[in-house]
Amino acid sequence: MRLSDLKTGEKGVIVKVLGHGGFRKRIVEMGFIKGKVVQVLLNAPLQDPVKYKVMGYEVSLRHEEAEMIEVISVSEAEKLQQEELMQASDAVRGKLAEERPMTDKQLKAAAMKKRRIINVALVGNPNCGKTSLFNFASGAHERVGNYSGVTVDAKEGTAFFEGYEFRLVDLPGTYSLSAYSPEEMYVRRQIIDKTPDFVINVIDSSNLERNLYLTTQLVDMNLRMVCALNMFDELEARGDKLDLRTLGVLFGVPMIPTVFKTGKGVDLLFHIIINMYEGMDFLDKDGNINPEVARDLQEWHKSYEGKHGGDHEEDYSHGTRPNKSVYRHIHLNHGVYIEDAISKLYEELQREDSLRHKYSMRYLAIKLLEMDAHAEKLVGTLSNGKQILAVRDAAAANIQKELKEDSETAVMNAKYAFIHGALQEAGYEEGTKMDTYQVTHILDHFITHKYFGFPLFFVLIFMMFWVTFTLGQYPMDWIDTGVAALGDWVGRVMPDGPLRDMVVDGIIAGVGAVIVFLPQILILYAFISFMEDSGYMARAAFIMDRLMHKMGVHGKSFIPLIMGFGCNVPAVMATRTIESRRSRLITMLVLPLMSCSARLPIYIMITSTFFALKYRSWIMISLYFIGIVMAVLMSRIFSRYVVKGDDVPFVMELPPYRFPTGKAMFRHTWEKGKQYLKKMGGIILVASVIVWALGYFPHHEELTPQEQQEQSYIGRIGKTIEPAFRAQGFDWKLDVGLLAGVGAKEIVASTMGVLYAGDETVADDEEADSVKYANLHKKMSADGITPLVAFCFLLFVLLYFPCIATIAAIKNESGSWKWALFTVIYTTGLAWIVSAVVYQVGRLMGF
Ligand code: GDP
Ligand code: MG
Repeated sequence: MRLSDLKTGEKGVIVKVLGHGGFRKRIVEMGFIKGKVVQVLLNAPLQDPVKYKVMGYEVSLRHEEAEMIEVISVSEAEKLQQEELMQASDAVRGKLAEERPMTDKQLKAAAMKKRRIINVALVGNPNCGKTSLFNFASGAHERVGNYSGVTVDAKEGTAFFEGYEFRLVDLPGTYSLSAYSPEEMYVRRQIIDKTPDFVINVIDSSNLERNLYLTTQLVDMNLRMVCALNMFDELEARGDKLDLRTLGVLFGVPMIPTVFKTGKGVDLLFHIIINMYEGMDFLDKDGNINPEVARDLQEWHKSYEGKHGGDHEEDYSHGTRPNKSVYRHIHLNHGVYIEDAISKLYEELQREDSLRHKYSMRYLAIKLLEMDAHAEKLVGTLSNGKQILAVRDAAAANIQKELKEDSETAVMNAKYAFIHGALQEAGYEEGTKMDTYQVTHILDHFITHKYFGFPLFFVLIFMMFWVTFTLGQYPMDWIDTGVAALGDWVGRVMPDGPLRDMVVDGIIAGVGAVIVFLPQILILYAFISFMEDSGYMARAAFIMDRLMHKMGVHGKSFIPLIMGFGCNVPAVMATRTIESRRSRLITMLVLPLMSCSARLPIYIMITSTFFALKYRSWIMISLYFIGIVMAVLMSRIFSRYVVKGDDVPFVMELPPYRFPTGKAMFRHTWEKGKQYLKKMGGIILVASVIVWALGYFPHHEELTPQEQQEQSYIGRIGKTIEPAFRAQGFDWKLDVGLLAGVGAKEIVASTMGVLYAGDETVADDEEADSVKYANLHKKMSADGITPLVAFCFLLFVLLYFPCIATIAAIKNESGSWKWALFTVIYTTGLAWIVSAVVYQVGRLMGF
């Protein structure tokens, strides 16, 4: 509970103070020290200030400030005590005997216990190893991927270490904390609003300069943090020289070498975090540790002696002064002109204290000079907001005059200059012993080659689909035979009646028509996982960049688009890595035209039914191709006429190639396969039963199956909408399939499976497959469906309404129903027009 929640007269014990270093320091100096009892003298709701008594003094705080202090109230402590008593064995219970009212000592013990939960945020560039640390420490299985943007949400996990509970939050990767991309804003908000106790800044030590840029911004924010110099194995293999301690001192942040892939350095990292968390707020002006705090720390330290390597840099547990302390809050020097501007702004910002508990004023001043929109908005809420912005504008103009660059660039350059200098001072020398990226460099020479790159890429994509379809055929046949045998068997053992018909013709036929594609989907996902994890996907984006620009989007849009071939939903979510909102939106809008694997079942069913073997793969390829062409056309149209706005330039990352581990690949593939199976058990099962029921009722035994279907509910629905699809030559059964596919596209296939299920006798021989399709061919041809109609039907399936899940994802990611609705309308319209045109032209040409 927060101090602001205590009512007048109530008592509590301080657990911890949240927020940035400047704020914590001020509050601790007022006497709000962990474990101390506070009493509320006066807390009137909505009335500032609130009066407290702490350590014998009366102090007043503003409401927002009291909100940043975590306390444990007497009643909370009592509740905890009772819980403990309930759990304790009889023998222990005697010793724990309840005492009322609780003594201050007991209260303090309860507070200190609660304090042992540390909220830690993992912040760092994409691909630096945050998720690897998260997984290693918490035992989670979050996705580790070798391209940027794998983590798009905050993931939470818990780790236990030396008596403390670490609540880890794995945040999306960012290069900076400006307000350009949604991730950057997201990470900023997480840090400011969720007020983690600690930040672990994960750094890829093979790319120090760029990674430290983010560090400089975190330093500005005055956070309690450590840097994990991750991938230290690679740095050592290269033989780089770097004095970590010096670098740490220069930044005022401990720099801990780590290898998160194996977990090396994690113990030391956590040990140092505990040290800093418990010690660093409690130093007096001369740098001596508060003796009470020191005693607690030493006690804790003794019980874990020797468990975390001998000497460590940041230690508050020896003697009265911190041992080899590296941590200090530095004001990163931006050079005279910028510093001058900062101090002018600082002075102006200081006049108002309503933001002080949340933001370091220096940080806000720097952000304002960076022309940060969010900071401007914040400052706008202050009474002297206009004044502050006027000061900023004058200062920025001065910087422009003196440095001949705009203040935003000037701040950035100053930060890089700082980093460069710090590295120089820390004796940073890139080793020559071995180029860890030698392989990467050689490979990139070919893979991103001007002339070879493209053909190689197409060969790979072609291989991917070819292997998927040919190799996938075998397990597919097995499952198919299994499903048929199951249907047969159930049909024989169950008594006649609607229930048997529902199980055989509804559930087994419907779900069976879809489940057979699981192997192919797994193979496709295995390929995509391999390309992502190895780093090839990032190259593909690089190769495609120029082409993508012609579509009006960025190279970065390419990864989501390729993912769309698997499933559109995660693909829509993956667009978050695209910095420019405009590119993002366009990518999202055209994504449904990427033929997702849910459409495969119906493609295969229809092509196998209507086309000779040698044409089948061409029909398939043509569908994928038409989808891509439409995506290109649409995105050109959208970028020109529909989605307005400017683009922001950004870096395109090329992570080093890494050979994906079998385990990771297996997991990634399986995760996706699992989603597919889940869908099967859920929406597809339900839809199959509904479609079956609509076709079964009203039921008349004496009718032939065809007559039965025509007069059933589904037949009536299909007949009603039939005129709408006359231009495409679809009959009512096809219309019903399309209607059912709105839920999920697999349902088109399962619906057809149900609609055409029935009296055929499945042969047990090797020809089962061709017999099945021959049967289907007979039935569908009898309905007047020609290959041309069948092809137009596939075109319609390809282009129309993406499934409900995709629409929901677009709504979430674009932030409004507007774009989701737009997608529904344009895709369906496009499908209608394209299939009508193809049908009419095809008919004229005599197909
Ligand atoms: P994130 O984007 O920051 O979450 O990074 P990930 O945890 O997804 O890791 C990116 C890649 O770096 C993965 O391929 C990891 O296996 C790899 N990786 C992570 N830590 C290390 C390390 O210490 N050494 C080496 N060599 N590779 C690592
Ligand atoms: Mg990650």
